[in-house]
Amino acid sequence: MLAFSEPRLSTTVLIVGAGSTGLALAQGLRKAGIPSIVVEKHETLHAQSRDWNMGLHWGASSLKALLSEEQWARIQSVQVDPNEPTAEHDALKFFNGQSGEIMASIPARLFYRLRRRKLRDLMEQGLDVRYGKKLDAIEYSADGQYAVAIFEDGSSLLSKLIVGADGAQSKTRQLLLGPGLGQVRRLPYCATFVQAQYSAERARFLRQFHPLYLAGINPEGYFSFFGVHDATDRDKPETWTFFFYISWHSSLQEQKETAGWTNSQRLKQVKKFAQSFTDPWRSAFEWLPDDHQAWYMGLSDFDPRAKDHRWDNHGGRVTLAGDAAHAMTYQRGQGLNHSITDAANLVEAVRRMVCGTATQASAIADYEDEMIARAGGEVSLSTVNTVMLHDWQKVLQSPVLTSGMKRSSQDRN
Ligand SMILES: Cc1cc2nc3c(=O)[nH]c(=O)nc-3n(C[C@H](O)[C@H](O)[C@H](O)COP(=O)(O)OP(=O)(O)OC[C@H]3O[C@@H](n4cnc5c(N)ncnc54)[C@H](O)[C@@H]3O)c2cc1C
Repeated sequence: MLAFSEPRLSTTVLIVGAGSTGLALAQGLRKAGIPSIVVEKHETLHAQSRDWNMGLHWGASSLKALLSEEQWARIQSVQVDPNEPTAEHDALKFFNGQSGEIMASIPARLFYRLRRRKLRDLMEQGLDVRYGKKLDAIEYSADGQYAVAIFEDGSSLLSKLIVGADGAQSKTRQLLLGPGLGQVRRLPYCATFVQAQYSAERARFLRQFHPLYLAGINPEGYFSFFGVHDATDRDKPETWTFFFYISWHSSLQEQKETAGWTNSQRLKQVKKFAQSFTDPWRSAFEWLPDDHQAWYMGLSDFDPRAKDHRWDNHGGRVTLAGDAAHAMTYQRGQGLNHSITDAANLVEAVRRMVCGTATQASAIADYEDEMIARAGGEVSLSTVNTVMLHDWQKVLQSPVLTSGMKRSSQDRN
């Protein structure tokens, strides 16, 4: 047990996790002049080789509000194609993945396609980020004033507020709800992802279908995304990196039985699925060498509105944000938009608490009430969307085809 007799405040807000949520929150607090420290379990920002890109659309105004003007001015540099300014009006095209027929063209306004790694690089600047700090436990002072984060290396930090922004497998959530209730719900769907470069000729061929991204729905029960991940050097197609995946229904039993599969088994499986696709998927997978790196992932969710999922925030001394609060499936492209919105709203809540216009308990409770209703609704909509996208009979009624990428509660006109 730690002694609270002489509390030495390390910071006002301690943010667990240097993902997009944690870094955006810290930037917003910095802009508001409120001290924060970010702790990250990995030794560096890019300790993991896996990267992906994310569509930021209705959440873009929140990110702009959180970043400094100078940082927002560089947002273009973290896009998958920094040479192409984000179009005022764009469309995400959905194809029949087998026949190539267009199924839907979903209008999208100011649709940023951001590389996660580059976005985190941009947002890390100017912050106090402490690496190699893996949250292990949280303790609370008896006077109701402080929370202490204790790390696996035995060190600790004392703050007014701890924000768990530690992703879908959040340790903070598990500490708050217990290891059972605090777990994500595993879903009977999974996906295999690939990043790859090709010869100039092949890269040009693959990109002719769309300069940025497209989605494919295959009547055989597969969903797929194909997009450019890095096209920094527009004149050298051989340096372009593509990012694509196929997702499919897979029972939890099957996921368990194949848990030990090797990379080559995963790739072989997804290459076989791709044979039932038209281009660009078919060729993109076919051209991969058999030992190419692939990432396999089971899908999961966490709905903060579900029974027994409301955590005790200890008088507003601990809360959750981003995937830690509302892990959702990604085929509707909403997770980052909600995460960044959480960060913007949480900055406002902390500002009210620091200025004294609200008590800490009520500022954090208000933040949580809004966030849980907004993002919790999206968790269930995204899961319904995932189910429908893999069922050819229901696909045309799926939320992404009926209401596009809009925020779930938005006016659908
Ligand atoms: C393939 C794919 C495509 C996607 N596409 C879109 C899209 O188009 N649009 C969209 O809006 N969203 C999309 N998303 C979702 C989006 O990526 C996430 O919602 C978002 O990245 C969540 O960020 P986060 O910071 O909350 O979590 P994370 O990015 O997971 O960050 C959590 C951080 O916490 C750290 N951490 C974990 N445990 C601890 C601990 N105990 N102590 C200290 N640190 C810890 C982790 O190392 C990590 O750095 C997509 C997701 C995927 C996987």
